[in-house]
Amino acid sequence: MQDRDNKVFFAAEPASEHAASAERKVWRVLIVDDDSEIHAVTKLALSGVTIDNRSLQFLHAYSGAEAIHMLSTEHDIALILLDVVMETDDAGLQVARQIREELNNDEVRIVLRTGQPGYAPEEEVILNYDINDYKTKTDLTRGKLMTTVISSIRSYQQIRTINESRRGLEKIVNAAANLMERHSIHNFAEGVVTQLASLLGLNPEGLLCVRQASDSDEIVVLGAAGHYARDIQAPLQTISDGRIIEQVKRCFSEGKHLFLDTASVFYIDAKGIKAAAFIDSSQRLSDVNHRLVELFLANISVGFENVTLFEELRTAAYKDSLTGHANRAEFIRHLDNAVLAKDQDFVIAITDISHFSDVNDALGQDVGNKLIQAVGQRLQAHLSGDAVVARISADVFGVLARSHEIAPDTLREAFFAPFTVDEHRIPVMMTTGFSRCYKAVNGLDLLKQAYIALKNAKNHRLESFANYHPSMQAETERRLELIRNLRIAHQQRKLELWYQPQIELASGRMVGVEALLRWPQPDGSFIAPDIFIPLAEYSGLILEIGHWVLEESCRTMRDIDASVCSDFRMAVNVSVPQFRQKNFAEEILNIMQGFEVPPQRLEIEITESIVMDDPNLVAKVLSDLKSHGVRIAIDDFGVGFSSLSYVQRLPLDKLKIDRAFVRSAHTDSGAVIIETIINMGHRLGLQTLAEGIETDAQAAYFGELRVSQAQGYLYARPMNLDSLKRYIDLHPCREEGENLVNS
Ligand code: C2E
Ligand code: CA
Ligand code: CA
Repeated sequence: MQDRDNKVFFAAEPASEHAASAERKVWRVLIVDDDSEIHAVTKLALSGVTIDNRSLQFLHAYSGAEAIHMLSTEHDIALILLDVVMETDDAGLQVARQIREELNNDEVRIVLRTGQPGYAPEEEVILNYDINDYKTKTDLTRGKLMTTVISSIRSYQQIRTINESRRGLEKIVNAAANLMERHSIHNFAEGVVTQLASLLGLNPEGLLCVRQASDSDEIVVLGAAGHYARDIQAPLQTISDGRIIEQVKRCFSEGKHLFLDTASVFYIDAKGIKAAAFIDSSQRLSDVNHRLVELFLANISVGFENVTLFEELRTAAYKDSLTGHANRAEFIRHLDNAVLAKDQDFVIAITDISHFSDVNDALGQDVGNKLIQAVGQRLQAHLSGDAVVARISADVFGVLARSHEIAPDTLREAFFAPFTVDEHRIPVMMTTGFSRCYKAVNGLDLLKQAYIALKNAKNHRLESFANYHPSMQAETERRLELIRNLRIAHQQRKLELWYQPQIELASGRMVGVEALLRWPQPDGSFIAPDIFIPLAEYSGLILEIGHWVLEESCRTMRDIDASVCSDFRMAVNVSVPQFRQKNFAEEILNIMQGFEVPPQRLEIEITESIVMDDPNLVAKVLSDLKSHGVRIAIDDFGVGFSSLSYVQRLPLDKLKIDRAFVRSAHTDSGAVIIETIINMGHRLGLQTLAEGIETDAQAAYFGELRVSQAQGYLYARPMNLDSLKRYIDLHPCREEGENLVNS
C-alpha cells in the first residue's frame, strides 16, 4: 500500500514527461457483466469520452469472482459498472460488499446494473456499500450512460483528492511525532532529512545545515542521512561535494527553497534558527509535494524549538553551570566508559584547591567563583582536547586524561603562575589524588580510588599529591570498620574512663587525676586512645563520646569528693570538634552543675592544635570557663613549638611538659629546651607538670627545676574507678598545711 501510494501520489514527474503521462492520465473503468455483448455496447457508448482531458480505459470481468480478482490486482480503478445477476442472483451485490468490506476499497465508485427493472436493490445495500447509481441495462444509451460515468468519476476524483490529502497529513503528523521523540538535535536533524525524503518518495540522502549565528558565515552540518551521515557536525566548508556547498549557501542567501535538476534545497526558518535541508533528487517536485513540504517544514519549526529546549535541559543535567565543564554525574559517565573500554592508558585525577574557603571568605564569593572558573580553564588549557575536565564539587575538579598528559609535575607547572582575578593576584595550590584504574569495576569505584588518594595527599604534609594504591583502600576500610565498632562500643557503654594520679613534687601528695579513655576488647586487651581518638574526631563521634567523658568524670569527682584534698582536680582532655560546638562552655558548666561538682574541681586539657584551629574562638570559650573557676592546662606543650606567643594571650593555669621532652632530659639539647619551657612557665606565673615520669632520677631532675607536679608510671599507671578508690584509701589526703606541719 505504502509503495503504491508513494508512486501515484508523491512521485515526481519522470524526466520524459510526455510519454509517461499519456499512459497514466486515463480513468480506468471496470465493466463486470456475464454478457459479453454488454461489454461491447458499453465501450461503444462511451468511446471518445474524455473527462478533464483524460480518456477512459476499460477493464473487463465476466463474473463476480473475476471482478474481485481484478480489483485486488489492478489499482486506480475509478468506476465499476457492475451487473447484479451473474453466477448467482446477487453476485453483483456480493462483489460490492467485498470491495468495501474485504478489499477496504472505499474509493472506487460503483454503478449497479440489472436486466429487469424492479430488481432494484434495497436502500440499505445502496447506503452500506456506497453505491453511486442504479441503472437498468436499457439505460445504456450514450447520453444516459455518460451522465452517470461523468458524475461518478468526478466523485471518485474528489474522494481521491481528499484521501490523498489525508494520507499526506497523516504522514506529516507521523513524521512530526517521530521527530518529537528525537531528543538530540543531531538525531532530530537526521530525522528531518529522512522524513523529507520519505514525503517526497526519495532515498533518504541529504543533510541539514544551520547557520551558527545570523551575522556569521559559518554553516555547520547538523544532521545527515545516507551517504552524508559521516559529515555530521562538520563545517559545511569541509564537505567534499562543491555542489552542495554552493547550493546550501545560495539557499541561505536567497532565503527560499531551491528546486534544481539534481537536488532540492529547503529553507527552514524556525524561531531563531535558520536551516537548509539539502535532499538529493534527480526529480522535480510536483505541486502537491510542494504544498506538503511547506506544511511539513512549518511543523518542524515547532520540533526544532522542542529539541533545543530538551538539549538545554540535558545540558543542565550534565554540565556544571558555573564553569561549563562536565559535572559530577557526567564525569562518572566518562569514567564508566573508560572502565568499560578496558583502556589501561588513562589516569584520573581529583584535584582540590587548597584553602579555597579562605579566598571565598576574604575576597568574597564573586572572586571565589571567578577563581574556580579560571582554575577550570587552566586545567583544560594544559590538557589535550580529548581530556575530560569536570567540576565535581565546590572547589574540586576531576580530570580524565591519557597518562602522559597528567602527572604531578604537569599540574605543578600548570599552577605555578598565580591567578589574576579582578585586581587580585591569587597564588593557588592544588592537592591531587591520582588513580590508574586499579581493578575498578565502574566509574564510581574509580572516583572513590582517586578520592582516597586525595585524602591521603591531604594528610601528607610534605607532598601535594598521592597515587592511589590498593593498600590505601584497605587502610580506609579498616578505619571505617574501627569507627563502626567504636560507635557500637560507645552506644553499648563499653568505653571506660580510667584515671592517672597527678602528684605534687614537693609534697608527694595527689593533687588530681587525669581522666583517660579506655576501649576494652573482648580478649582483655585495649585499643589505644592514640588510635581511636583521631577516628572519633574524624567521624564526629568525639562529640558524643566527649560529652560522656565529661559526665563520667564529674560522676567520679562527686563520688570521691569527700575523700580527696580540697584542691584536688579532675583533668579532662578535650578535642578540636568539641570546641567548635556552639555553647561548649555552657555545656561543661551544665554537666558540672548536674553532678553538683564545683567548677574549681575541673581542669580542661587543651592542645596546641585546638588553639591553632581558631585562636579567637578558643580564647573566648576559655575565658568564659575560667571566669566560672574552671582551670585550663595546655597539654603536650612544646611539641610543635609553633607559637609561644599565644601562651601569653590565653587564660592558662598550667603547662604540661610533653613526655617526649621528659625522655630527652638527659641530652644537652633536651635539657636546654626543658629549662626554657619551665622558665617561661615560671615567668608567666603558670603551674608546670612533667608528664611520663618513670624514674626517680627524672623526678629528682624536675624537682630541682621547681616543676610543681608530675604524672607518670613512677607514681601510678592509669587505673579504673575501683582501683582509684583503693589508691585514694592508701594515699589519704594530707592538706598542704598538714603536710608542712608534719614535715
Ligand atoms: P595525653 O593527654 O598526653 O595523655 C597522657 C598519656 O601518657 C596517656 O596515654 C597515659 O597513659 C600516658 N602515660 C602516662 N604516664 C606515662 C609514663 O610514665 N610512661 C609512658 N610511656 N606513658 C605514660 P593514653 O591513655 O594512651 O592516652 C593517649 C592520648 O589519648 C592522651 O594523651 C590524650 O591525648 C588522648 N586521650 C585520652 N583520653 C582522652 C579523652 O577522654 N578525650 C580526648 N579528647 N583525648 C583523650
Ligand atoms: Ca592529656
Ligand atoms: Ca600529654
